[in-house]
Amino acid sequence: MKKILIIGGVAGGATAAARLRRLSEQDQIIMFERDEYISFANCGLPYYIGNVIQQRDKLLVQTVEGMSERFNLDIRNFSEVTKIDRALKTVMVRNTQTNATYSESYDYLILSPGAKPIQPPIEGIKEASDLFVLRNIPDTDAIYSFINNQKPATAVVVGGGFIGLEMAENLTERGLKVTLVEKMPQVMAPLDFEMAQLVHQELNMHGVDLILGDGVKSFANQGRNINLESGTVLTTDMIILAIGVVPENGLAKAAGLVLGPRGHIATTDHMRTLDATTNAVVEDIFAIGDAVQVKDFVTNTDTAIALAWPANRQGRVVADIINGIDTKYNGSMGTSVLKLFNLTIAATGNNQRSLESKKIPYTAIHAHRTNHASYYPNATNIAMKLCFNPETGEILGAQAVGQDGTEKRIDVIATAMKLNAKVTQLSDLELSYAPPFSSAKDPTNILGYIAENVLHGYYKMTYAQEIAQLENDGAYFLDVRTPIEFSTGHFKGAVNIEVDELRDRLSEITVSKDTPIYVNCQVGLRAYIGIMILRGNGFTNLHNISGGYSTYKSFNYQLNTHTTSTPVLPHVDDTTGQASMAIHEIDVTGMQCPGPLLATYKAIQDVNQGDKVRIIATDPGYTNDVENWCRTNGHTLASLTTDKNKYIAEIIKGAQTASCSANSILNNTQENATIVLFSGELDKALASMIIAQGAAAQGKHVTIFFTFWGLNALRKATHEPVKKNFIENMFGFMMPQGAKKLPLSNMNMLGIGPVMIKSIMKQKNVNQLDVMMKSAQDLGIKFIACTMSMDLMGIKKEELLDNIEYGGVGTYISSNENVGTTLFI
Ligand code: FAD
Repeated sequence: MKKILIIGGVAGGATAAARLRRLSEQDQIIMFERDEYISFANCGLPYYIGNVIQQRDKLLVQTVEGMSERFNLDIRNFSEVTKIDRALKTVMVRNTQTNATYSESYDYLILSPGAKPIQPPIEGIKEASDLFVLRNIPDTDAIYSFINNQKPATAVVVGGGFIGLEMAENLTERGLKVTLVEKMPQVMAPLDFEMAQLVHQELNMHGVDLILGDGVKSFANQGRNINLESGTVLTTDMIILAIGVVPENGLAKAAGLVLGPRGHIATTDHMRTLDATTNAVVEDIFAIGDAVQVKDFVTNTDTAIALAWPANRQGRVVADIINGIDTKYNGSMGTSVLKLFNLTIAATGNNQRSLESKKIPYTAIHAHRTNHASYYPNATNIAMKLCFNPETGEILGAQAVGQDGTEKRIDVIATAMKLNAKVTQLSDLELSYAPPFSSAKDPTNILGYIAENVLHGYYKMTYAQEIAQLENDGAYFLDVRTPIEFSTGHFKGAVNIEVDELRDRLSEITVSKDTPIYVNCQVGLRAYIGIMILRGNGFTNLHNISGGYSTYKSFNYQLNTHTTSTPVLPHVDDTTGQASMAIHEIDVTGMQCPGPLLATYKAIQDVNQGDKVRIIATDPGYTNDVENWCRTNGHTLASLTTDKNKYIAEIIKGAQTASCSANSILNNTQENATIVLFSGELDKALASMIIAQGAAAQGKHVTIFFTFWGLNALRKATHEPVKKNFIENMFGFMMPQGAKKLPLSNMNMLGIGPVMIKSIMKQKNVNQLDVMMKSAQDLGIKFIACTMSMDLMGIKKEELLDNIEYGGVGTYISSNENVGTTLFI
């Protein structure tokens, strides 16, 4: 019979005790816990505070009586172990209720004392009466009763780790206005910055104010005020201090056991401790859980992971080893998941930051995929990032931010990592699929495919953080999104050629074939298609912007921009003078980029100026898109809110040109835009005018260069007496004469299509092309007629509208100076 003592009766300790008993009915097992409760649900504590878990009893997974009975254990709560005597193989125990002490001998000792919240000696911390930490049931009770009794209206959470974020959410759910302060430039250390930005956005969306890169200098006024290092002073009704934990290492240190650089108890892969003097393995003392230092499974460097899985696994491993089972602990990867409002945030292994600090070579890839088939209702986007070793293909870590199914993908990757799969093997994982759950190519497979493409050298990855420098260097950006997406924002100087037109418009890419071309779309997929087209046409230096414009936008997210709502200006009816605001609702849930934006664009076209359109989406990326789109198109984003996993944007249709006089446009020095209107088709001419006015409304100088068939849009409706030869007359006769006569590119149906579309435009209050052209000119948009095409087609100046300029390629090129956008329509 062995006598085994366990210090600590929660995650690691209780697991070890139960397994020890299952493996031996004879052993004497004593578990000491200094607090009242054993085996409680630490992880559930924030949710009890938030009233999500409504019964306190539910937190008490096991009671002393229940567990003692089931496992025949000697469980002693209110019993603090105060000393270990390694020579005598005894521990000293103090009853925390009576203060009585006694000694207990052991054959084996298991330390699972956990960690304690950091409470640094900040000025004013002792006097801060309503400052709380959260580790155990008494902490929870204190916070819970404070909220119920004192009814605080505001809270400051200090620290943006797991507990800080969970508390920010749960206090918000309780109706408090929360400010979260984090000293690092981001929350959630397991994530890299661009991924954490999604979390920042989610916090802001739910009304949590974020202060990043600023620490607490002191507390004042009994904790009512918090002075930050930047000089900012916050006022609050309560404070949650969640800046991390330190290992409970007092016993181990006093017993002469080796501690790591951050104070964790050093362990072997059998979870045995080491002697501080000789570094020899201490055969009879094991340590597990938050208090210990183990090996990082991926990098084999020392690490300490304060999570429940390692504590539980180590508890079982130790019980097995004590009972002669040949096993070991293989190291920790820190696989973790967190719920934050609508988001699920999960990670495993190393992130880019930690790989850089450890000088481990890596390639990072990003992907944005829906959690299940996009055509099945309520599909949502998962933003993923994976780092792998480009030489060996070893998976080094992964991060994901999304909604349903996010953690499933990280768990699959964590499994692959533990089984030493290479990144390319992710594409070969045969995962379960039906439309409500996934896609035939699961997001995890997609990461494998992207990695394969990179390893095959089809393209190099370029990252969001490199874009600013590339823009300064005048890099060649090719944006293969639709013009509407492009209009919501793009890289400086980017050329926009939609992927579906790329094959036909390759001649517009005027750089040499070995010039680096940085190709982007919204998430990386269309860029990949574009890259393969370019590759097939001899271009050799191709880069894909990892995660596309979406990741770039996340990277550049500005804090606290989602909480403001702009006053709503009602539409005043022209004839009645009455203020009214029609509300139109469109549901684009499940649609992925660019679907929601295109639907928004269409919906706005369908309503009157001043009307409100409410769009319900599930794609988190839409929140950024819609903000930019409204800003650049003269509409008002009245509100952007969330409801469960839905994002609701309310947009008031603006007058795109109302606030922009020609002078203000000309005074603006932003990059300009040129549209080459080659087509003489009504829909394309309309699109040119819409985009041109949108760009002008952003303050850009816009030039439309009318060439070939596009000249027809400029023709006057009346016949002008001009001298023409026979062929010129024939040409003039066969071509549509002016904006009102242009055919449609599709569904022209011998002229019925244009009649129908014009009638619909009238009904929907959309200006006809000729009116739009006039208002474009009023806005200062320059129309240039291509003289070379006029000559070829026999069109004379007298036949064209007034107030236009004439020029050839030179005029066009000079109008391109300082041009950020060139569209060829
Ligand atoms: P603990 O479970 O903390 O147990 C240590 C016990 O030892 C304590 O009860 C302590 O009182 C006792 N003790 C210490 N010294 C002595 C002594 N000298 N004598 C007697 N008793 C002593 N992890 C996740 O993976 N997912 C989550 O969602 C998650 N959420 C969490 C939420 C909160 C609010 C907290 C506090 C933690 C959360 N964790 C989560 C972390 C997880 O709970 C810990 O990693 C895990 O409990 C560690 O187990 P442990 O046995 O090392 O320590």
